[in-house]
Amino acid sequence: MGMRMWTNSQNWDAEGANKLHEVLPNLGEDLHRRGEGAGRKRETAMCRLRVGHTWLTQSYLLTNEEQTFCYACDSLYTVRHILIECPDFQDTWRKYFSVTDLYRLFREVNPSRIVGYLKDLNVYGNI
Ligand SMILES: [Zn+2]
Repeated sequence: MGMRMWTNSQNWDAEGANKLHEVLPNLGEDLHRRGEGAGRKRETAMCRLRVGHTWLTQSYLLTNEEQTFCYACDSLYTVRHILIECPDFQDTWRKYFSVTDLYRLFREVNPSRIVGYLKDLNVYGNI
């Protein structure tokens, strides 16, 4: 009954998930190699967040591992959880936005604030 906890981008390299990089590559490294800017990465990250499909939360689907749990509170680790549900992240996201549902988050909050929050949590590289 292992629980997989991704906390930063070093973890997945350490886990030897090379095969998975081909399927859902590390955006940061990939865009850096191709010489694309932070704006493009942000666009892609926001798109993944909107559909709730990120490496951070969905990699278990590709690895046949058990579903990921939040390293802070042990709840199921979903985009919704990270963005607006986790009680342990609340103090951090309040620095960046004050909405309480995803609908408003994606429509009313400047993406740079959402990105700022994810960087603060040190998970942006794994979106
Ligand atoms: Zn949590």
